[in-house]
Amino acid sequence: MELWQESLRQSLTEPAELARRFGIDAAPLEAVAARYPLRIPRYYLDLIEGVGDPLWRQAVPDPRELEDDGLDADPLAEERLAPLPAVVHRYPDRVLLLVSGECALYCRFCTRKRKVGCAASRLSLDELYAGIDYIARTPAISDVLISGGDPLLLSTDLLEDLLIRLRRIPHLEIIRIGSRVPVTLPQRIDAKLCAMLKQFAPLYLNTHFNHPRELTTQAAAACARLADAGIPLGNQTVLLRGVNDDAATMAALCKGLLKIRVRPYYLHQMDLVRGTGHFRTRIEEGMALLQALRGPVSGLAIPHYVIDTPGGRGKVPILPETVESLGDEVVLRLSDGSRLRYPNAVPPKG
Ligand SMILES: *Cc1c(COP(=O)(O)O)cnc(C)c1O
Ligand code: SF4
Repeated sequence: MELWQESLRQSLTEPAELARRFGIDAAPLEAVAARYPLRIPRYYLDLIEGVGDPLWRQAVPDPRELEDDGLDADPLAEERLAPLPAVVHRYPDRVLLLVSGECALYCRFCTRKRKVGCAASRLSLDELYAGIDYIARTPAISDVLISGGDPLLLSTDLLEDLLIRLRRIPHLEIIRIGSRVPVTLPQRIDAKLCAMLKQFAPLYLNTHFNHPRELTTQAAAACARLADAGIPLGNQTVLLRGVNDDAATMAALCKGLLKIRVRPYYLHQMDLVRGTGHFRTRIEEGMALLQALRGPVSGLAIPHYVIDTPGGRGKVPILPETVESLGDEVVLRLSDGSRLRYPNAVPPKG
């Protein structure tokens, strides 16, 4: 077993341990963890300073996850857009290849909460190869985004096998990996992984920092190893209530990312996913936040603020020119001229 696998194995998975460590009641957490899995690597656990802090909120089960919030488990219609279990094909030229059902840390706000960490979402090797075969026989696809779960939880050897197969496809130009392990398990970004990935340029890696306190020395070192292997790094942040929904935190995050050679790419409006309603902010708040970044923060560090539209119509930038009206329902103008009504009411703060 490699060192990082040993670290992952030692992650916290028992609500009782959280309860002991932080002096809280385990029972409400048990109920949530029975429905949506709990895992926090020791590295990330040690970054949590106390109950309710921004890292706690991302990692620790919350009873509100079980409330009936009237939201859909799969609002982006990923299941409908999946020609095969391992593929989500929404745009003509680029696909998601879902290679892992596991993550180092199960983020409480995850859009794929319905499936990450569930035995049923584990894919067989045959299903992965079938996904690669789909890309090979679909010449319109020039860009693959390897996702999951977290692709970097696959063994380095298996990941290399998949990358070799993908690189044999002549029409596939760009390979991207989406992974949160630089944030949650930076020791996974070891020399062997970086040397392996280096062979497959142009290969991009998008990671997922949400708070400046995640920009530790270890995370910076992990990003440096990737950047030194010639892998351009981007970051996707989710706008989360009580975590990063104020301008000072967002500015510190975006500037801090640039310092470790990670370019802010997307800022996602929280999707309308069942069990995550308490994380949503209003779109007006996100727009104000972006407005506050312009000027004080370099354009290099400013992400695109986007909504992933319900029903699987893809991402739409949230800009003064795409937002027709605000209120408890926002009206957005899509690129094809049609209009989208998006629920904007959020639960009261608590
Ligand atoms: C976001 C996304 C992509 C990639 O979109 P880019 O804007 O090119 O980064 C591809 N497929 C799906 C289903 C997506 O959600
Ligand atoms: S790492 Fe990504 S896929 Fe995994 S739980 Fe977090 S948000 Fe979801």
